[in-house]
Amino acid sequence: MDESQRSDGGHRPLVVLDKVNKHFGDLHVLQNIDLTVGEGEVVVVIGPSGSGKSTLCRAINRLETIDDGSISLDGVALPEEGRALATLRADVGMVFQSFNLFAHKTILENVTLGPIKVKKVPRKEAEAEAMRLLERVGVANQAQKYPAQLSGGQQQRVAIARSLAMKPKVMLFDEPTSALDPEMINEVLDVMTSLAHEGMTMIVVTHEMGFARKAANRVVFMADGRIEEEAQPEEFFTNPKSERAKDFLSKIL
Ligand code: ADP
Ligand code: MG
Repeated sequence: MDESQRSDGGHRPLVVLDKVNKHFGDLHVLQNIDLTVGEGEVVVVIGPSGSGKSTLCRAINRLETIDDGSISLDGVALPEEGRALATLRADVGMVFQSFNLFAHKTILENVTLGPIKVKKVPRKEAEAEAMRLLERVGVANQAQKYPAQLSGGQQQRVAIARSLAMKPKVMLFDEPTSALDPEMINEVLDVMTSLAHEGMTMIVVTHEMGFARKAANRVVFMADGRIEEEAQPEEFFTNPKSERAKDFLSKIL
């Protein structure tokens, strides 16, 4: 892809946050957040602990309400509640730090549950699609096992397959590798990198610089509830502009 096409300017806007504010009591956790993520774009969000990264993800998925501003997905404002919310939420896949698989369901059932229950996909069809996705993330041979029988890295790849089964328009990842043993981090990042290269729109909270360099179109640096800085990964890592970003990078690099 030509570098000049890699900012959101060249893409159809898919996720648009416009002056989003949120408080937790006195804490102004999201401060006037403006962010546009284009279709097929991969945005990595980084920043110190407590800067609002998870709240931002949760707001995009409407797991948190916002005080003012707006969030839209593919041109439709996210509703507060009701049926429309369930439909829109299915368009946003989310993968968390903890894998959150259903412990008493098999791997295959974990992946087919949403499509069968929410999207009313016939079981046979849902299972065929689930097997294709499990194949894609490299765990098809584990389909009949239960989550506890899998390694953390395998469980996280199942969680990705489970999200993909809902055919989301955008995937949110909130520190998907930070609970994993070091030797399992790459197997998850590799799946995410191939998703990125296949054109999935992704918002990824991670401190994995290698992933950001390989897969991200843009890095968004958050501090104290604000977007302090945005740049292409190479530019951000080699030439951060704000003092906060310089200070943060000096601690993690
Ligand atoms: P990050 O993901 O960047 O570490 P978070 O979005 O999790 O940051 O949290 C941002 C701030 O909001 C933190 O100070 C956190 O303690 C606070 N916070 C998060 N969730 C809640 C909540 N449900 N109620 C009150 N405070 C919260
Ligand atoms: Mg967080």
